[in-house]
Amino acid sequence: MTDATDQVLADRSQPLFGSGYSRMPERFFARVVPQPVASPRLLAFNRPLAVELGMDLEGADEETLGALFAGNALAPGCESIAAAYAGHQFGHFVPQLGDGRAVLLGEVRDRAGQYREIQLKGSGPTPFSRGGDGRAALGPVLREYLVSEAMHAFGIPTTRALAAVASGEIVIRDQPLPGAILTRVAASHVRVGTFEFFAARGDVEGLGLLAEHVMGRHFAQAREATRPPLALLQAVIDRQAMLVARWMHVGFVHGVMNTDNTSVCGETIDYGPCAFLDHYDPAAVFSSIDRLGRYAYANQPQIMTWNLARFAESLLPLIDPRPETAVELANEALADFTPRFEVCWLDGMRRKLGFSTDRQEDALLVNDWLGLLHRYELDFTLSFRALCDLADEAGGDARARALFARAPQFDRWASTWRARLAAEPTVARQRAAAMRRVNPALIPRNHQIERAIEAAVSRDDLSVFTGLAIALSRPFEGGAADQEYMRPPLPQERVLRTFCGT
Ligand code: AMP
Ligand code: MG
Repeated sequence: MTDATDQVLADRSQPLFGSGYSRMPERFFARVVPQPVASPRLLAFNRPLAVELGMDLEGADEETLGALFAGNALAPGCESIAAAYAGHQFGHFVPQLGDGRAVLLGEVRDRAGQYREIQLKGSGPTPFSRGGDGRAALGPVLREYLVSEAMHAFGIPTTRALAAVASGEIVIRDQPLPGAILTRVAASHVRVGTFEFFAARGDVEGLGLLAEHVMGRHFAQAREATRPPLALLQAVIDRQAMLVARWMHVGFVHGVMNTDNTSVCGETIDYGPCAFLDHYDPAAVFSSIDRLGRYAYANQPQIMTWNLARFAESLLPLIDPRPETAVELANEALADFTPRFEVCWLDGMRRKLGFSTDRQEDALLVNDWLGLLHRYELDFTLSFRALCDLADEAGGDARARALFARAPQFDRWASTWRARLAAEPTVARQRAAAMRRVNPALIPRNHQIERAIEAAVSRDDLSVFTGLAIALSRPFEGGAADQEYMRPPLPQERVLRTFCGT
């Protein structure tokens, strides 16, 4: 860090971050400062996000931003911490996890008045590192940057990526790799596992303070309810039901839905071995560590229910002092997940098929369609997108028809679909436009991500990453310039396994 960098940071009219979670009692975290890296180099900076966050970084040059987002320069007044949490990993409880490679710098209120936390990921060891090096490799940092920003472009709640910085250091994984640091932005980094941390210790006071903190910032309505902790549970169930439904609509497989990776605010968090479906397969698993397929695409709603049951258990002592009453109320709340999920899921699927009204027969039509995609291994994203073209004019477009040429039952299904569309109040052109707004042309396909990572890691070439990031920022367009990004993998390009960032 140079004096000039110090000066730029010191000159802010107001502090870059407020303190937020670092004002909780000391047992909630460890006070840690990021460990400076050898030679930070700014790889990506999300300026529109910085503006949205109201961060005053207008005059900061690349060197300053690199130093700031590597953790080499700390903004004045920054009270950085590593948060404590626990969690169920693949069904097994681990009483102490915590930020082992991340440091929370603080929080801001964004332009919409919402609280957002700023965290460095890969910023060095903390008391929660459990033998890990606290670092991140460049590949997973670029992957998280691309995928979380694409998720945002889809309109799905997610943590965001504010910056990626190369550290100029090597990290050792199964091979030596260039290191990097990601700046992650989340409404809150409190997870189901944060509640489990206090519940497992019988720290009811801590649980209460945590619930207060979360409700005060993100669940104002729950706070007004007769039983605020129960209302909090209900609201989290609601947000998570919607979130998982929306993952399903874009073919997203989170890959490691442990309770420490389940945000209480309902954002997608922790992009490790995640992936998007190419061809449709409900049993799809990509994560190298998910040998039993626990976190397969179609299992996600069920797993989320399980995670929320762990959340409910943690909240029991706050819900009611009488255990039986608390359990009864929590169970009633949990029973809402499945119907809530199903309504969101079907509603989204209807819109993907071009229906703006509800009809009894829609569920069958959706399931028959998915059955076709599965049976003929059709590309999930392109198939929905092709329906947009077919919905435009009666005969449809030749390319779309070619896609379904190897699905002999398509025509039969399509005639039922067209009959259903005829009952819609909208005209064809409007309907197709509405479908194109909910059916992305582009998803972050694994083979494209791998290509971007490969260019950056082996040739220090960021142009592939940048091109992909720009294309993914407008995923519903699908214009001529995007054709290459829309292409599904050739057999030899298919990525069957994805790995954690660790
Ligand atoms: P994850 O699978 O990314 O959700 O991480 C699970 C736990 O392992 C969290 O407590 C992380 O902070 C920790 N962890 C992951 N990678 C590292 C690393 N390289 N060094 C230290 N801790 C890590
Ligand atoms: Mg995690």
